[in-house]
Amino acid sequence: MRLDKYLANAGAGSRSEVKNMIKKKRITVEGETVTDPKTRVSAEDDVLLDGGPVVLEAEIYIMLNKPQGVISSTEKGPTPTVIDLIDHPQKDQLFPVGRLDKDTTGLLLITNDGKLAHELLSPRSRIGKTYVAELEKEVAEADISQLQSGIPLKEFTTAPASAKRLGPREVELTITEGKFHQVKRMFHHVGNEVTALHRIRFGNLALDEHLAPGDYRRLGENEIKLIK
Ligand code: URA
Repeated sequence: MRLDKYLANAGAGSRSEVKNMIKKKRITVEGETVTDPKTRVSAEDDVLLDGGPVVLEAEIYIMLNKPQGVISSTEKGPTPTVIDLIDHPQKDQLFPVGRLDKDTTGLLLITNDGKLAHELLSPRSRIGKTYVAELEKEVAEADISQLQSGIPLKEFTTAPASAKRLGPREVELTITEGKFHQVKRMFHHVGNEVTALHRIRFGNLALDEHLAPGDYRRLGENEIKLIK
């Protein structure tokens, strides 16, 4: 990523403040003074400000539009993870808040704040997670009612959910639990199959529509308040 973006991401200052730091020769990359904000750096590079480490942030909150084909894990393996998509000097501390299936797209929070993640994922928090599901077959009104009132799955019955038909084969569904493949299993129970699943909302936080799949950005102060 660009050096100015790297520094801003690390909390060294705003984009224009860090550009100034670079111009004033306060930054070295791998021991060399750098004056071009466009210089490419990676998380592994040794980037120093005034000879010392760049200010590192205590709490990092990132909104990712998860693309298909990456897993919600921090474990390095043959399949790329959501963390591989993030360029950040403290990348090693980051993890996703919960999981989306490999083929699910949309809003995934990435953070280093274990306490908040724990609270958000606790079943007691009953945070609504909103998905848009594309379906194999047309959805009947009776299916919507069933989704709303609760679906008996193998290990539990789903809590009342909010379900809205967006089109003949498209439903917006908000669930307050987050069990394995829950949305797919709920539709399977009513005789349908999910062909595409996209999360648009986590609690009061909405996915930024300007983020293309694979793109991410920091949460703003007001957005952080929405999830805390
Ligand atoms: N429900 C699913 O079935 N898959 C997801 O990725 C999220 C919710």
